[in-house]
Amino acid sequence: MIQLSLYEKQESLDVLNYQIRACKNCGLHLTRLHSLAGEGNMNSPVMFVALSPGEKENAENKMFIGPSGQVFNKLLQAAGIQRESVFMTNLVKCMLPKNRKPKMDEIEACSPFLEEEISIINPEIIVPLGAYATNAIITKFNLHNVSFGMNFSSLNGKILEKNNQKIYPLPHPAALLYNPRFKFNTIEKYRMLKKYL
Ligand code: SF4
Repeated sequence: MIQLSLYEKQESLDVLNYQIRACKNCGLHLTRLHSLAGEGNMNSPVMFVALSPGEKENAENKMFIGPSGQVFNKLLQAAGIQRESVFMTNLVKCMLPKNRKPKMDEIEACSPFLEEEISIINPEIIVPLGAYATNAIITKFNLHNVSFGMNFSSLNGKILEKNNQKIYPLPHPAALLYNPRFKFNTIEKYRMLKKYL
């Protein structure tokens, strides 16, 4: 992959973010207030990929500020990671009404934006959060040897690698809202990311 300078990264992200904000490529544009582009440190070796904006994120046009974001912040803090040191984005850039699951055609319509973000940020390790983001990243990197289906738990916390790209699936913070007993294990998994930062 070609290494972009800081200036080139910023310029490419500006163009991409403009396209994301204007996008009407699937029906989710009808129910959104904002389509969220990724945010954070564009030079970070660590890129988190969540599922989609929630209600608060949709209203205020910022990543991870709702209930899931509070869990995410606590996990980072407990692991000693500064939120400003990582890059964060979503698989689907517009809110899913009533937190419903994404449809395949919505994921397909939105995936080119995520692919472009990965190519601009060029992270050392991608951290898909939850089953949908993990499935999309595994498909993008052709990790066909990984037996996945929707069995996310078999990949949770395992480092996968393809062509020097590390992929580290972790649970979506929203899942931890309802299963707080998994939080301790997940903090340990977040700590592992410190060696990349
Ligand atoms: Fe466009 Fe993605 Fe929003 Fe659909 S979800 S309208 S593809 S930005």
